Amino acid sequence: MRWQGWGVTDIGRIRKINQDAFRLHPDLNMWVVADGMGGHAGGEVASQLAIDTIGRYVDQHHTQSGPPHIEDRETILWGALEAANRAIRNQAREQTEYSGMGTTAVIVYISEDATSQAIIAHVGDSRAYLIQNDAMTLLMRDHTLVEERIELGLLTRAEASTHPLRNVLTRGLGIESTVKPSVSTHSLQPSDTILLCSDGLTKMMNDEEIFNVFRQHNHSLKEASQQLVDMANRLGGEDNVTVVVVGTET
Ligand code: CA
Repeated sequence: MRWQGWGVTDIGRIRKINQDAFRLHPDLNMWVVADGMGGHAGGEVASQLAIDTIGRYVDQHHTQSGPPHIEDRETILWGALEAANRAIRNQAREQTEYSGMGTTAVIVYISEDATSQAIIAHVGDSRAYLIQNDAMTLLMRDHTLVEERIELGLLTRAEASTHPLRNVLTRGLGIESTVKPSVSTHSLQPSDTILLCSDGLTKMMNDEEIFNVFRQHNHSLKEASQQLVDMANRLGGEDNVTVVVVGTET
């Protein structure tokens, strides 16, 4: 089974710079999206630094003694996000114009032992979805204030979608000296697709609209990824938008 990824990032129709970033690592079976924040170019620097650090860290640990086991892969992703957190904080300390910069990151790392498994790790509100023939499933929970309130039963999902504080993160890379990533493992079928995206997509389109794009473009994941970005822009393009789509298309 050969998993392949496509990525598209776009500045959107309102913002003056694109602080999102993505990276495809087909050699590692790993794909990453990051959404930076902080003025004076800090957001751009933070998301790039996160992407670079994660790639380097996983590459070093992946190749040391051959492809690692699932538990080891989860530990590696955890370590990669901690390393990215340190790298961002160090840079912000050295160059005060970057003080306060931060970023989200979401990673999918696919293992192909007996069967394919997707390890998802994230910090922040960039998302990972599993897309199958008849359903689209969110594989993680946003690290946001509204998500915490939903879990406590204080808000419904519908109320959260229009809540004024819906973009406030509770965790991000570079924000605090320690970071607590969320990591989970999911079985994959050959016909499955993984979508990673920044909130520039999910602010403009709901899950059903996103799923419809995959239904209409199921012959080409590359077309589906471009179509998602185009639609987010047609619907207003309020933020930078980034999508990475991973599947077994040949
Ligand atoms: Ca964003």
